[in-house]
Amino acid sequence: MNTDTKLLSIIIPCYNEEQAIPLFYQETMKQEFFFREKGVELEFIFVNDGSKDGTVEAVKELHKQDERVHLISFSRNFGKEAAIFAGLEMAKGDYTVLMDADLQDPPSILPEMYNYIEQGYDSVATRRVNRIGEPPIRSFFARCFYSLMQKISKTEIVDGARDYRLMTRQVTDAILSMKEYNRFSKGIFGWVGYQTKWLEYENVQRVAGETKWSFWKLFLYSLDGIMAFSTVPLSIASFFGILFCLAAFIFMIFIFVRALIYGDPVAGWPSMVCIISFIGGVQLLCLGIMGQYLSKLYMEVKNRPKYLVKERF
Ligand code: UDP
Ligand code: MG
Repeated sequence: MNTDTKLLSIIIPCYNEEQAIPLFYQETMKQEFFFREKGVELEFIFVNDGSKDGTVEAVKELHKQDERVHLISFSRNFGKEAAIFAGLEMAKGDYTVLMDADLQDPPSILPEMYNYIEQGYDSVATRRVNRIGEPPIRSFFARCFYSLMQKISKTEIVDGARDYRLMTRQVTDAILSMKEYNRFSKGIFGWVGYQTKWLEYENVQRVAGETKWSFWKLFLYSLDGIMAFSTVPLSIASFFGILFCLAAFIFMIFIFVRALIYGDPVAGWPSMVCIISFIGGVQLLCLGIMGQYLSKLYMEVKNRPKYLVKERF
């Protein structure tokens, strides 16, 4: 082995993936030959995000056969974002790649990704071109989310982008330098910049187990994304304020003129109730938005650790 041997760290966040882990390892090892030819060693970093099944045992089993398999196990479920961060922190590689345990990120394209890095790209990202096999309602909301993000955020957040991404050490360190507690990786990747090559592939169904994301969890995650990478919602209050002032002014003139022409009949109680409750609603909405940002700020200020480790090897 020559001294220029490079190391590629494969980071796999796992939450209840005991069935998928052996399959993932098997599939990914098929690419080992390619990397060996290139003088690149592999290391696996499985991040156990507080699984309730035999995920830890499955990783230990692999570690017995192959000591390049590492584990970092959390004290409870901290979420995929925390798992990504922990994995990147633990990775020693000259290159890092983030992959899901369920083989929805096909290892077969790793060589192609690496070739682009060799050509000088700083990171190689992937996106799905379709969402076959996903509930249509979920796809619909996902598309709404991305088109909204494109309008209200300066950071580029690509529709269908996966977290599956091969990065150089420089990009990895840039991502680690972003210490925020409320993490939204898709935005962070865009924010750090660097030259990125996008690869596209058709959606693949997960090999085993089931998705960990309920509709509600995804909805909350999308709010995290919006609040982490846009402050536009905060200006909604100003927008409505100006709008209502204008409307009120026009309405005043209208009432004044009508009173001059037709006298002053006391009417319009129902319309008054509608207007008051509408404005009340908008005020509560704006207050709610402020509250959301405040709660994020509160969590950031507390500066709690992003994850706690129970075991690592
Ligand atoms: N995951 C995690 N913590 C969580 C939820 C998910 O580490 O709280 C991992 C999960 O084990 C998988 C990856 O994140 O490796 C993607 O999750 P999943 O496949 O359930 O999401 P989907 O592909 O359905 O969007
Ligand atoms: Mg998946």
